[in-house]
Amino acid sequence: EIEIRDLHKSFGATEVLRGIDLQVTPGEVVCVIGPSGSGKSTLLRCINLLEEPSRGRIVVAGTDITDPDVDIDAARRRIGMVFQQFNLFPHLTVSGNLVLPQRRVLGRDKRTADRVARENLRRVALTDKADAYPAQLSGGQQQRVAIARALAMDPRVMLFDEPTSALDPELVGDVLAVMRSLAADGMTMVVVTHEMSFAREVADRVVFMDEGRVVEQGPAAQVVGSPRHERTRDFLTRVL
Ligand code: ATP
Ligand code: MG
Repeated sequence: EIEIRDLHKSFGATEVLRGIDLQVTPGEVVCVIGPSGSGKSTLLRCINLLEEPSRGRIVVAGTDITDPDVDIDAARRRIGMVFQQFNLFPHLTVSGNLVLPQRRVLGRDKRTADRVARENLRRVALTDKADAYPAQLSGGQQQRVAIARALAMDPRVMLFDEPTSALDPELVGDVLAVMRSLAADGMTMVVVTHEMSFAREVADRVVFMDEGRVVEQGPAAQVVGSPRHERTRDFLTRVL
């Protein structure tokens, strides 16, 4: 579903991604781990074209999104993104947050958008909060709304950038549970996370990045359980 070849990204003279190759097959859950500044967020932002790659090729759901002639808006529609900060529209209700992008971006009529909003609020167990405003919700609930909002757009892949890092510890579990059920439903997911237990239990593959490169990747049990590289071991002893 995602194919990345020789991806480079520089900001000025600083090369932040130095040749990333990564494939994600349909239904696969890939967790990306690595130290601060290693380029994890930049990688996700390139997949979503929030950053323009300096070099390399990214194909998502059969479309080369690095092709200069690509319809960027159409390409972005296939990709759901959930950030550490939930970025909900504060002046809209929960339901409004799910309905507005469907109507604006996909041109859905109100009835369809309402129905899809309800279905996705059910998926994240927040049907009863449809008429609440974001400020009336806990951080964990807001993050689940952000996930439902992304799902309402029928993405082919979902990207998560440290979705639980801004949450109080007691709220992390509910968000991870929603992500677990998405994975079980067969959603293709790339998840940047420091939650090693989630990576171990849910990821089909773990990718360790350092200094803009993929240092090591493989099944979670191998990369987290018995890493081959010194740098992976160093990192894991610091986070585990
Ligand atoms: P963290 O775990 O702290 O979130 P990360 O692995 O997500 O780190 P990135 O946010 O991708 O790392 O950043 C990688 C490097 O790129 C950092 O050195 C950062 O300062 C630099 N960088 C990121 N975005 C920009 C930008 N817009 N302009 C200049 N430098 C940037
Ligand atoms: Mg980051």
